[in-house]
Amino acid sequence: MSIDFSERLQKLPPYLFVEIDKARQEAVRQGRDVINLGVGDPDLATPDFIIEALNKAAASVENHHYALDAGLLSLRQAIANWYRRRFNVELDPDTEIHPLIGSKEGIAHLPLGIINPRDKVLVPQPCYPPYVSGTIFAEGKIIVMPLKAKNNFLPYLSKISELKGKGVKLMFLNYPNNPTSAVATKEFLVEVIRIAKENEIIVAYDNAYSEIYFDIDKPPSILEIEGAKDVAVEFHSLSKAFNMTGWRIGWVCGNSKIVSAVAKVKANIDSGIFQAIQLAGIAALESDGSFPDEMRRIYHERRDYLVNGLRNIGWKIDPPQATFYVWAKLPKKFNNSIEAAKEFLEKADIVVTPGVGFGSDGEGYLRMALTVPKERINQAVERLKKIL
Ligand code: PLP
Repeated sequence: MSIDFSERLQKLPPYLFVEIDKARQEAVRQGRDVINLGVGDPDLATPDFIIEALNKAAASVENHHYALDAGLLSLRQAIANWYRRRFNVELDPDTEIHPLIGSKEGIAHLPLGIINPRDKVLVPQPCYPPYVSGTIFAEGKIIVMPLKAKNNFLPYLSKISELKGKGVKLMFLNYPNNPTSAVATKEFLVEVIRIAKENEIIVAYDNAYSEIYFDIDKPPSILEIEGAKDVAVEFHSLSKAFNMTGWRIGWVCGNSKIVSAVAKVKANIDSGIFQAIQLAGIAALESDGSFPDEMRRIYHERRDYLVNGLRNIGWKIDPPQATFYVWAKLPKKFNNSIEAAKEFLEKADIVVTPGVGFGSDGEGYLRMALTVPKERINQAVERLKKIL
């Protein structure tokens, strides 16, 4: 019998990070000393106080059951308290917050709850891939918002009004941005909300990197903007600020109707976050902030090692103000980002992500993640000196 994938699945581009990791694994299998600046996964450990909270909770039988639906009220309360402290935003734990098994699944599930076939979805490009795959699964039609250096990697909002009446229902936005590391000001977000309301577009704002920033004011939440809750939800996560990528804990918050759409999709697909992890998440959210402070110090130092090191060998790169990514224009000798990434791996045993993997507007760039120790960054620079 021949088994065909669904048309939906066939429409998906290959998931770039999986492809890159295959190439990395092959190089490692050959015994090569690979420096991995590819996938954005913190190399450092989850802090002990969170692991201790997990261990304690995991030992208790009451945490061993299906978590179901919105999970523990105490987690939603901790999220609400953290939003109040961090962003001065009030959220109702019962209706305006829904925990996620990592923000990725919520991002990918949202279109299933609000998009009908052929509804249009504005997706920035380059972008985090689930905005594209979530839209394809819901059979929505993607309209690309190119992010260009000359516009500080922000979408051209004035173009959105030109689409009025053309069936645009949802817009994804992500700042601090992966992969470009750009940040959005509050003024920009005010404009986003104004345009979204005027054109009746739902805004899905991905704020996964709000705690990773350097030399700038703290990045805002879109929910700080007056009236944002009328049209917007925000996705957030403990993955990046607390080195908890493998734990799978995040949330969606904001407009209660949109939150309930995600909740309804999820109620039919998964069974909630392991309750012991929810309790560990509360420990993270209620902590004093010194851990994310320390992470910022470490990434800042690594950023300076990489950017200054590469500048010294003639590759001029702007230092990112947020996220743990360096979004670097291709050195002149390469024709495209895949060719460059291949040569980095073949000749220097360095994994980087080709910009085109984040969409065609990412061509011409490479993304390097600051998720290796500074000694390895120095080694990477030394190796690149030989091939650039
Ligand atoms: N949003 C962006 C922009 C990301 O880069 C990532 C992960 O790399 C996520 C969301 C998902 O994070 P998680 O699913 O671990 O919460």
